[in-house]
Amino acid sequence: MQTDFLVIGSGIAGLTYALKVAQEFPDKKVVVMTKATADETNTKYAQGGIAVVNDLENDSFEKHIEDTLIAGDGLCNEKVVEIVVKEGPDRVNEIIEWGARFDKEKDGDYKLGKEGGHSEYRILHHKDVTGKEMERALIDAVAAQKNIEFIKHCFVIDIITQHHLGYLITKSTPDIECYGVYVLNLETNRIEKIVAKITLLATGGNGQVYRTTTNPSIATGDGVAMVYRAKGRIENMEFIQFHPTALFEPGLKGQAFLITEAVRGDGGILRNKNGEAFMEKYDPRKDLAPRDIVARAIDSEMKKTGTEHVWLDCRHFSKEKFIEHFPNIYEKCLSIGIDITKYMIPVAPAAHYSCGGIKTDEWGRSSVKNLYACGECSSTGLHGANRLASNSLLEAMVFAHRCFIDVKEKVRSVEIKENIPDWNARGTAEPKEMILITQSLKELQLVMSDYVGIVRNDVRLQRAMRRLDLLWEETEQLYQSTSLSTQLMELRNMITVGYLIVKGAAFRKESRGLHFNTDYPGQSELVQNIVL
Ligand SMILES: Cc1cc2nc3c(=O)[nH]c(=O)nc-3n(C[C@H](O)[C@H](O)[C@H](O)COP(=O)(O)OP(=O)(O)OC[C@H]3O[C@@H](n4cnc5c(N)ncnc54)[C@H](O)[C@@H]3O)c2cc1C
Repeated sequence: MQTDFLVIGSGIAGLTYALKVAQEFPDKKVVVMTKATADETNTKYAQGGIAVVNDLENDSFEKHIEDTLIAGDGLCNEKVVEIVVKEGPDRVNEIIEWGARFDKEKDGDYKLGKEGGHSEYRILHHKDVTGKEMERALIDAVAAQKNIEFIKHCFVIDIITQHHLGYLITKSTPDIECYGVYVLNLETNRIEKIVAKITLLATGGNGQVYRTTTNPSIATGDGVAMVYRAKGRIENMEFIQFHPTALFEPGLKGQAFLITEAVRGDGGILRNKNGEAFMEKYDPRKDLAPRDIVARAIDSEMKKTGTEHVWLDCRHFSKEKFIEHFPNIYEKCLSIGIDITKYMIPVAPAAHYSCGGIKTDEWGRSSVKNLYACGECSSTGLHGANRLASNSLLEAMVFAHRCFIDVKEKVRSVEIKENIPDWNARGTAEPKEMILITQSLKELQLVMSDYVGIVRNDVRLQRAMRRLDLLWEETEQLYQSTSLSTQLMELRNMITVGYLIVKGAAFRKESRGLHFNTDYPGQSELVQNIVL
């Protein structure tokens, strides 16, 4: 297949970009690919909302910029922060025009929520299922756009570069170019090549690298791993945000249910095993301190009291108001026997968001020519060492727009690359034992959770690296000798992502934002991004 515009990922980043490009070029085909169903994305699970300056009487761009910079702990790119905050309102108005609905007060003004690290009420939301509503609106708009071809259940394996034409490519090769991608069609089990003038990676996060995560199973860091293999630049991978309050369900495997920060914004109180409200010991902003501080405080209380969770107390809420704002959370808790008006909710931190990723400039261009990245898989400079709550949906929309602006002219000067070879699957056989993959995945998740979690130190990082080396070697052998499957490709990608997280963490000889190393509790004077 050949196309001018190829989009990998059907979350907020990929779909926003696809819509814009398709509307601008009605005569050209835009191909959107996803490895799962259309809406199985991190986007669908976003609860709290989208941070945007809306009420200019009480709020201002300057305040939102300041809050983002404080959370980012010295590593944000100030220009990018200003771009995202100031361009945010226009992008939000666009998605409203495409049909997304946000909650309103009786007088017609938008209801604004507040979350940790925000100095003002500025979070637009749709009850506690904001992402689901935004994804719905985008999918409806895409369905109405005739020149978008939406291909589901296609797993992108690798981006095609000069490497596939037989050239030797290293990190220092200038002008590495992207010509499209190889994909495994999961319905036919065939490997196909899609040749494109411009490719956008919008492949989302990597929470599945950890044992407990709020991310769905698709979040395996594929885009980051692909770009790393193609010798592109990856940045700040050590900054993994752990959400402080995922619902603790003993024995749960897979995605943990999130209790949005907005619950604490509305007055929810964290209590330890003994019922003490502990956050004031850690930060004057108490339960609304930024996420890294709250997650570390919970981690410390759990370790002190030897428990697997703490409590979130909402018993003082009016039941009616809680149900109105958080119907999904209310129902979920009730389904496991917790009536939040009578009982506290057990919560524990879970891997939630990757602040680093594919390094881009302010137009979403990666270091590989004709390859763009936006959304959670990218590192634009907005989040620095820690993402401010509800800034990611905003970033995805602002950068989707910027990528679109940049490709509008550029596409005219890019030629489709001819003579791309087919994928070579010679010498591979059907996998004999699935256990080789599933066990390695468990090991990876344990290593990452136990040694590269909320609190790190040098010994743990060295151990993690040694174990990852072994997992890498074994998985590479498997990859070279067996035919490809989703599980094997995801495992391979997650090991690469784990390696990048550990490597970034080992390079950073300080504690900053989400990276806390007990061997270096202070901050280095050299403020730097770590690019791998
Ligand atoms: C539980 C939860 C709550 C959140 N709450 C908020 C919030 O309130 N506010 C906020 O701003 N942010 C929130 N976030 C973060 C936010 O939802 C994500 O950062 C954002 O939605 C990411 O969008 P995206 O388009 O980059 O990626 P995603 O929405 O994750 O989409 C990724 C897409 O890439 C596809 N893909 C991946 N790899 C491949 C491959 N190899 N081949 C083909 N397709 C592939 C996937 O199938 C999917 O379609 C939350 C996240 C979670 C998990």
